[in-house]
Amino acid sequence: VNTPVYAGIDAGGTEFKCVLGSDPERLLAREKIPVSDPAATLAASAAFFKRAMEEHGAATALGIACFGPLDLRPESSSFGCITSTPKPLWAGTDILGYFRDNLHLPVQLDTDVNGALLAEQRWGGAAGLHSAVYVTVGTGIGAGVMVDGHLLHGAMHPEAGHMRLTQYADDPFSGACPYHGGCLEGLASGPALAQRWQQNPKTLPDGHAAWELQAHYLASMCVNLALMYSPQRIILGGGVMQRAHLFPMIRQAYLAQINGYLGDQRQAVAEFIVPPVLGDMAGALGAIALAEYRKS
Ligand code: ZN
Repeated sequence: VNTPVYAGIDAGGTEFKCVLGSDPERLLAREKIPVSDPAATLAASAAFFKRAMEEHGAATALGIACFGPLDLRPESSSFGCITSTPKPLWAGTDILGYFRDNLHLPVQLDTDVNGALLAEQRWGGAAGLHSAVYVTVGTGIGAGVMVDGHLLHGAMHPEAGHMRLTQYADDPFSGACPYHGGCLEGLASGPALAQRWQQNPKTLPDGHAAWELQAHYLASMCVNLALMYSPQRIILGGGVMQRAHLFPMIRQAYLAQINGYLGDQRQAVAEFIVPPVLGDMAGALGAIALAEYRKS
């Protein structure tokens, strides 16, 4: 039996990770394309795939896990475009159309977080589950949501990073979100941490008061996600979550905040709020998984 080969792009803000392959054990070719202007970045990515497919055979489909916001409404005239990104040149880029027309492949475009979630659900920390949430906590905060085996899109796609939270009583910070001030992203993203503490979050020691606040806000997020989407697991990834000491703190704060409403989760919480297992390949594998995934 021939294993189908897929093309995938982990389209991030600083580089496009392009891969050709079938699964984590079978990646035939990969290349990192630094992000410059859209025309040059897309052309270099397409050129990689043409070379890789010449060598290894044609792909069945292309998946793109992309920074957003994205227009994912098939009936929309700007379907497949990056919409109102703060990256100046990229707003309005028809990323789906470009690759469909240049590679002549079916293209599945989705958010980077939905891609990472799908990869974790196929091969990683949510394997075998039908309902899970993947959150990235980094430059921004975003969440991919799967309920009953379906990636959630809705009218656009969820923007759970901007959920409103009850601010910690002793926290005077007004928040870093240009739209909402102290929404989740405004309180707990990497830039919010840097602005609040006036230093690079990477230099904050484990015992710093910053992390108690951070755990409080991320626990509130997990409470909201658990109550709204009923996931079997919440995976927390992204640069800020490299600080592994946050996980037990978030779990403790989660238990305190939810206060037993979903039953006794004291044992289960260690398996409920977890780090990703696919590491920095999650995005590219997510793109492969998206290529395989059929929206239904
Ligand atoms: Zn916001």
